[in-house]
Amino acid sequence: MCHINMLPLQTKTKHIDMAIILNDEYFMKQALAEAVSASAKGEIPVGAVITHGERIIARAHNLTETLNDVTAHAEIQAITAAAATLGGKYLTGCTLYVTLEPCVMCAGALAWSQIARIVYAATDEKRGYSTFSKNLLHPKTKVESGILADEAAELIKQFFLEKR
Ligand SMILES: [Zn+2]
Repeated sequence: MCHINMLPLQTKTKHIDMAIILNDEYFMKQALAEAVSASAKGEIPVGAVITHGERIIARAHNLTETLNDVTAHAEIQAITAAAATLGGKYLTGCTLYVTLEPCVMCAGALAWSQIARIVYAATDEKRGYSTFSKNLLHPKTKVESGILADEAAELIKQFFLEKR
């Protein structure tokens, strides 16, 4: 009888030490890390990750300067990478975490991808899709915002302050 009681206890302790809570905040922190990478390259710091279940299947950041391409937003890079990882163009079982509210172009691309969920950090009052129309996304896409919004906005603010 004794061994039955001891084994789960040990396993449990080990598990607690190593556990990483894979929640929205965790994945948004990964997107923020991508934004920091963008900043280091002189790119406006916007980062994104796409998850499928609890797995990150794409990590990307804004590359408009590097690629000399105005369409090279973090979300577009992430959509392309996620589809390549999945081997299919639709992202119906996926969540996008992005540090800034998607623009109209990215909202359109996300609608085509049929992504299940979008979580964005900071609001973009000038260029964010919701300023224009919330109907730009796919009707089945669920949206949440505000997670780590201050951190995401501060990165962008600092970037422009240093540029001046
Ligand atoms: Zn965009």
